[in-house]
Amino acid sequence: MGGLLSAEDALSRILARVHVLPAEEVHVAQALERVLAEDVVAAASVPPFANSAMDGYAVRAADVRRATLDAPAFLTPTLDIPAGTIASRALGAGEAARIMTGAPLPPGADAVVAVEQTDDRWRSDGHAPLPARVAIYRAVVVGENVRPPGEDIRAGQVVLRRGTLLRPQDVGVLVSLGRAHIPVFRQPRVAILSTGDELADVDQPLAPGQIHNSNSYMLAGLVQQCGGVPIRLPIARDTLDDVRHRLHQALAHAPDFIVTSAGVSVGTHDVVRTVVDELGQVDIWRVNIKPGKPLAFGDVSGVPFFGLPGNPVSTMVTFDIFVRPALRKAGGADPHAVPQATAVLDEDVVLDGRRTYLRVTLSERGGVLIAHRTGTQSSGALMSLVLADGLLIIPEGRTEARAGDAFAVRLLRQPVSLG
Ligand code: AMP
Ligand code: MG
Repeated sequence: MGGLLSAEDALSRILARVHVLPAEEVHVAQALERVLAEDVVAAASVPPFANSAMDGYAVRAADVRRATLDAPAFLTPTLDIPAGTIASRALGAGEAARIMTGAPLPPGADAVVAVEQTDDRWRSDGHAPLPARVAIYRAVVVGENVRPPGEDIRAGQVVLRRGTLLRPQDVGVLVSLGRAHIPVFRQPRVAILSTGDELADVDQPLAPGQIHNSNSYMLAGLVQQCGGVPIRLPIARDTLDDVRHRLHQALAHAPDFIVTSAGVSVGTHDVVRTVVDELGQVDIWRVNIKPGKPLAFGDVSGVPFFGLPGNPVSTMVTFDIFVRPALRKAGGADPHAVPQATAVLDEDVVLDGRRTYLRVTLSERGGVLIAHRTGTQSSGALMSLVLADGLLIIPEGRTEARAGDAFAVRLLRQPVSLG
């Protein structure tokens, strides 16, 4: 296998051919899981004004300096400040302002006493009258229970960086800054073409010798998980004409990438590379990995093309190694960010020198992650990926790995036992 391209080299050659897509604006309601195309700088402070952190009474700290449970300070409530309103005037000496969480502190007040530290037991019915007098049972220092302006965000602060994959809390912060329109990178459009005479779509009955076209749907899901827009094409038969026809059909959708499944190996009917060489070119074919060796990469009329092998495990693993980083780069995100951990093999494994991706379940023992191979490791057995918590990556050049050896593992989900 010495002549095969390494996964590393193949990926860097692929990424060198991928360009970052231009930015577009979306409404913040559509910004979740999009990638920010610019740094976001706060135009104003959040909160914009000093406000109460408690439901209670805003006071002058000096007026309640000696207040205790046995010797309360008595103040006169003169202002009522529910959230969303502002005080009609400043607070004078000996006065208290009933104030709700989030309401602006009135001028003159410098601290808030929680209602639990007073004798007021108002009803939460929206109509509680102001008492004539309130007993304060505890002293507060200046600033106590007050959120200063800018406590959360200061004006001028960079709150989110370009390249950030927006999470719900990021969307929340954009809205708190009043940002309705968000610059994000355009999502890569990915044409997906399954090839194979044996394939039937999911709602077709299977004729003898046929199987369902699972790769097309799996690939569409993988594309979506990478922030791309999948465009699934009808199945192509294993003929030059039909593959050519379907690739032209793919081009008509103006895709940023074309991903095919199957037909790139050495079978008599593996025609995909022949057609791609005619419409563009195949730059990479065969990589030193297991599973997934027959991977092809090139372009179809200038559109980056991935020819993934048809065995479902090979399809998904090669997508993960090569297509995912390419889509992430095109979409403005970090191509290499992937959930990884280190795990220890629980048995000896024989290898053939290729970089090997084992489907493993993971459990934790004494703070160490233990990797256990799923029952079958056949590249045709998709259940191995359904059951797996991760892909254990054994580097190229080894003929065996021993129980107790530690390797990187690409996490496919958070292992249940590590919840
Ligand atoms: P090939 O890459 O064409 O040699 O196909 C390798 C294996 O993958 C064969 O067993 C195919 O039947 C299977 N296969 C090819 N395409 C698909 C598909 N779209 N969905 C599921 N299995 C597939
Ligand atoms: Mg085939």
